[in-house]
Amino acid sequence: MNHQVQFDAELIRRYDVTGPRYTSYPTAVEFQPASPETYLRHVRQSNADGKPLSLYIHVPFCEKLCFYCACNKVVTKRHDKAPPYLDALFAEMALQGEALDAGRPVEQLHFGGGTPTFLDDAQLQSVMDTLNRHFNMLDDERREYAIEIDPRTTDPARIRALAGMGLNRISLGVQDVEEKVQRAVNRLQPVELTAAIVEAARESGYQSVSMDLIYGLPLQTADSFARTLETVVAMKPDRLAVYNYAHLPHLFKPQRRIQEADLPSAEEKLVILQHTIEYLTDQGYVYIGMDHFALPDDELVKAQERGELQRNFQGYSTHGHCDMLGLGVSAIGFIDNYYAQNHKNLEDYQQALAEGQLAVHKGYACDEDDSIRRGVIQEIMCHHRLRYDWVEQQYGLDMQTYFATELQALQPLAEDGLITLTDNGFTVTNRGRILLRHVAMVFDRYLQQRRAASFSKVI
Ligand code: SF4
Repeated sequence: MNHQVQFDAELIRRYDVTGPRYTSYPTAVEFQPASPETYLRHVRQSNADGKPLSLYIHVPFCEKLCFYCACNKVVTKRHDKAPPYLDALFAEMALQGEALDAGRPVEQLHFGGGTPTFLDDAQLQSVMDTLNRHFNMLDDERREYAIEIDPRTTDPARIRALAGMGLNRISLGVQDVEEKVQRAVNRLQPVELTAAIVEAARESGYQSVSMDLIYGLPLQTADSFARTLETVVAMKPDRLAVYNYAHLPHLFKPQRRIQEADLPSAEEKLVILQHTIEYLTDQGYVYIGMDHFALPDDELVKAQERGELQRNFQGYSTHGHCDMLGLGVSAIGFIDNYYAQNHKNLEDYQQALAEGQLAVHKGYACDEDDSIRRGVIQEIMCHHRLRYDWVEQQYGLDMQTYFATELQALQPLAEDGLITLTDNGFTVTNRGRILLRHVAMVFDRYLQQRRAASFSKVI
């Protein structure tokens, strides 16, 4: 696969509209009120296929608030909040585990947050022990067990302890290494802390270290972010995600603590993005798509080359063949073509489980059209192309009839140079790779319906 990516400021300016990141299709805004019974029915039905499992565990607590944060979290220094949460989590594991056939291997595990390392080692060990009781956890090479690490609440000894518990991948929140930027977002994290964690991870045999950065934060400049990139690349993370900061203080209260005047201008952000892409690809990183870069021997790159890359709630994944269970407050799962999301509120989540019920609050049963469009959108987001004969064989449809409107809507994208059209499909161009989601949006039925609805309102 061609991994080249070309920065075209003019094209990016022209397509400067927000759109879904397609970690699911349909996206979470389409989820409807749902009951635990419906979810459990889907879980039981999934046993017929007996796919391997991918578990996501959400730990919502953070000791300090990062002002840019848009995650579902509970900011508290009170560690006595953890035991009741773990009680609920363990009850949820028991209920879900009971509904699943015992032999289904857990190939993928991801602790996310919030801050998973808000839990101490004994608590994390008890999570792993409980998982072992209720699921078929693996202890061999097939497992991809990851945890998001906050270097401010972790030290090398903890990294070694986590490896001993079976975790073999870590993901580090870094965002920016410059002290003035860190102060402006209330996240002081000396680079030595991060470097010590990376070193400990290497020594402890972790298979992959990934890091998150954010551009567009207050007091960042093109020069300062270039220094951040250099510092981070010197640590040789296997994967790097470089996210764009979206300042939406009306939606995310913590962001009101950020001074708008301190934010880099749209033009400066474009310079930062251009340098990021050029610098990282120069340093040997492969652009996977949607803010993600990886070293050439990383599993993500290999999966993309094999045509097996998938997109899920954690971004890109090599485990698209798994059924996904979401455990913990606000967690989302996808099983038997059914999306299920737990209560977003901590009290509601704990209350449901205290009453012996799963905390599923919203859900969505995908119909045939959703599955087709999900496949098409995944192909665009992961492999930057679409072959019409592949879609026709895969889903038994006639592309020209089924997607007549969408094929027409692709024309302007081709004229603008985002895609190259052929008789049997299209490929996203090197210039279009940064705008992948704009190509995928053409096939999003719900987005088109919403646009049509707002259009008729204007009329
Ligand atoms: S960015 Fe992460 S660590 Fe910071 S408040 Fe949000 S969830 Fe917590």
